[in-house]
Amino acid sequence: MEKLPQNFKVPNAEERKRALGSMGGTNFKVKKALENVDDYWVPINPPGPSDWLANEYESGQTFEEFKVNKNAIVEKGKSDTICILPLDKQMSKSFLKNLVKMCEAFFYSCRIKLLPSVDINTIEKIETRQFPGDQYAPDTPGLIQYNASKILSWLFRVYKPQNPRAICIIAVTTQDIYPEENFSFVFGLANVMTQAGIFSFLRYDPGFNGDELNEGDDGQNLMLYRACKVMTHEIGHMFGIRHCTFHECCMNGSNHIQECQSRPLYYCVICFRKLQYAIGFDVQERYQALAKVCQEFGGLFDQDGQWFQRRYDDLLAKFGKLQSKMPDKKVKQ
Ligand SMILES: [Zn+2]
Ligand SMILES: [Zn+2]
Repeated sequence: MEKLPQNFKVPNAEERKRALGSMGGTNFKVKKALENVDDYWVPINPPGPSDWLANEYESGQTFEEFKVNKNAIVEKGKSDTICILPLDKQMSKSFLKNLVKMCEAFFYSCRIKLLPSVDINTIEKIETRQFPGDQYAPDTPGLIQYNASKILSWLFRVYKPQNPRAICIIAVTTQDIYPEENFSFVFGLANVMTQAGIFSFLRYDPGFNGDELNEGDDGQNLMLYRACKVMTHEIGHMFGIRHCTFHECCMNGSNHIQECQSRPLYYCVICFRKLQYAIGFDVQERYQALAKVCQEFGGLFDQDGQWFQRRYDDLLAKFGKLQSKMPDKKVKQ
């Protein structure tokens, strides 16, 4: 069925400012990290015809709207752990280790726990279907897809009670997933009520999309880059952050791989404020940790890494060197 265009209007400067919210009662350091918006974040680009915002209605969630909802808030020592569950016994250990590293920096001050992997086919009441193929993957009719909504309820039922400190649980799979019958696929899905989420990286594989890799391009780096974007996006949903309609941002919705690829790894100022409110990290330490992990991953991460470094440098000029310890145990006090 042809979807109706939603006539998405790019919010103007006034609307973006309103979405960021008033600064009254905000911690001084956080307030400083929300300044100079135009130097670091660009307004959202108008969507092309196949892009998310041309096809899906999004009301745009302001910081105040985010705050009034009963979202998950990290409580140190009680509910402060993001659990990652691999749904494939064959998944590369180093790939999973890198996902953990990115989470440790991105959701700074949360504990990250990698759970022992589970075979997706052993999940009770799992539902599958055969994918008919679509415009994004025309050569794949017959591909087996897994019902992601069923996996989310299983995660909630089985894994939440086993991990009492879990603020959210995210499953990662190499299989294709769909949220409900009338969707052809999803990159990821998260339930804000149960704080359970899943993402698949099958469709980021250059082999799946028929992406042209130039000589010297690193396919693994490309997969990791796309996976980190979808993972940080889905976990953001679990903290109650809805799709961003204000800036070019990791929390923008995406319909296809090019759209996912083109958005930045970082959150815009509005989504950043929501995440900081939910987690309570030190803004300066987090940017330093993110610059460091992007530098380590290299390749496609370089551009975002430089952006994180610029943010850190900006806060360094405002506050001076960090006094508190970094998570890296080798750093001398
Ligand atoms: Zn989303
Ligand atoms: Zn945003």
